[in-house]
Amino acid sequence: MTRLWLALLLSASLPAQAADPDWTKWNAYAVDLLQQYIRIPTIDPPADTRASASLIQNEFQKQGFAVTVYPSGPSGQTNLVIRLKGKGNSAKPLLLSNHMDVVPVDRKAWHIDPFGADIKDGLIWGRGALDMKGVGVEQMVALMALHEAGIVPSRDIVMLCTADEESGGEYGIDWMIKNHPSDIDAEYVLDEGGLGSREALSRDKLVFGVAVGEKQLLWLKMTAHGTAGHGSQPIAENANLILLRGLEKALQLPPLSKPNPTVEELVRQVGPLAQNKFTSAIQSNTVSLTSLRSGLGDPPKANVIPSIAEATLDCRLLPGVNGDEFLSEIKARVNDPRIQVTEIRRSADAGASTADTPLFRDIQKSLGQHYPGATVAPMLVPYGTDSVQLRKRGVVAYGLIPMVLDTATLATMHSDEERIPLESFLKGIQVLYDVLKNQ
Ligand SMILES: [Zn+2]
Repeated sequence: MTRLWLALLLSASLPAQAADPDWTKWNAYAVDLLQQYIRIPTIDPPADTRASASLIQNEFQKQGFAVTVYPSGPSGQTNLVIRLKGKGNSAKPLLLSNHMDVVPVDRKAWHIDPFGADIKDGLIWGRGALDMKGVGVEQMVALMALHEAGIVPSRDIVMLCTADEESGGEYGIDWMIKNHPSDIDAEYVLDEGGLGSREALSRDKLVFGVAVGEKQLLWLKMTAHGTAGHGSQPIAENANLILLRGLEKALQLPPLSKPNPTVEELVRQVGPLAQNKFTSAIQSNTVSLTSLRSGLGDPPKANVIPSIAEATLDCRLLPGVNGDEFLSEIKARVNDPRIQVTEIRRSADAGASTADTPLFRDIQKSLGQHYPGATVAPMLVPYGTDSVQLRKRGVVAYGLIPMVLDTATLATMHSDEERIPLESFLKGIQVLYDVLKNQ
């Protein structure tokens, strides 16, 4: 056998070296896909995600992926699963999870069309850009680029696009777990949550917080019962006054917060946290007064003392805090037989996923390469995501937003003028690509 033949034989038996993706092409594609996606107003309610599911389905099918569509609810709620087959070893899949629905908008509060997906000042504007169509498209394009590069991961990489995360996931994650659990069975999940910022977690330091857990939700209603009467003659049994005094007691800072190991680890790695509403919310149990309702008639009569006044409280508890104990504590503080405290809704305590995994280290490595000097640490998020349902089933779930955002941009989530920086959005695709190619 000649040397030439030997060399040819050897090179043929070596695994093909995948070429780097053509990022110029993929960047243009990602911007176009995100714009199309934002322009479909998948507002929840009703979370009609048929059109967005069909957009994503078509795009993946063009790239040669197998796509399954799951109509799940009465108002057009539709979920989607895309699978990139791995080498078929025994490792369970990695699931990329994103939701297609968005919260409603107050159009008057936007200077730009919230569903226009315009690019202005280096930002892409629109409802869902941050929560979470932007991250969704980053996941999608990273997966497509991986496939095109001919990289076959060891394990399957599965993408789940859900319908109604913003209203609790009844026809989204819950429906999928109930009806098609094996289609989304996974060892790991990458979902929304987490953040990267030079100011939000630590002042003047680039930190990527990867969410390993989230706070539990406990919604309460307080109803005060009093005596109705003429506004001209004040009485102590006024339901409004009874409610106000009860609320004052309930809203004192909850004492049940004890040190949380995830937050302690974040502080150990990052140093003292920046002071803002986000960092304060992840360090303790919180109670927000979210609604007040009373009065006779609509608009309420100014000269009638009502017999009933109501308030709702959005309580968020750190992982590990017992919801029943917290509720008893609120009741004990209010301590007034004229006030009923009832539970409206509660989420499960799924605890926190371990950060001691090869995947977490891959995330650290990839972010470290794309953002030299950045700290990548586990953290909590104060709000809920689809991950809680998966974490509850033993899946290791991480919230990863591979973008650098300032606090003003972060504050646009669920608010007005939602946007993301274009450059950081595009870089996030490569961050995810580098994570996925190691799986
Ligand atoms: Zn979200």
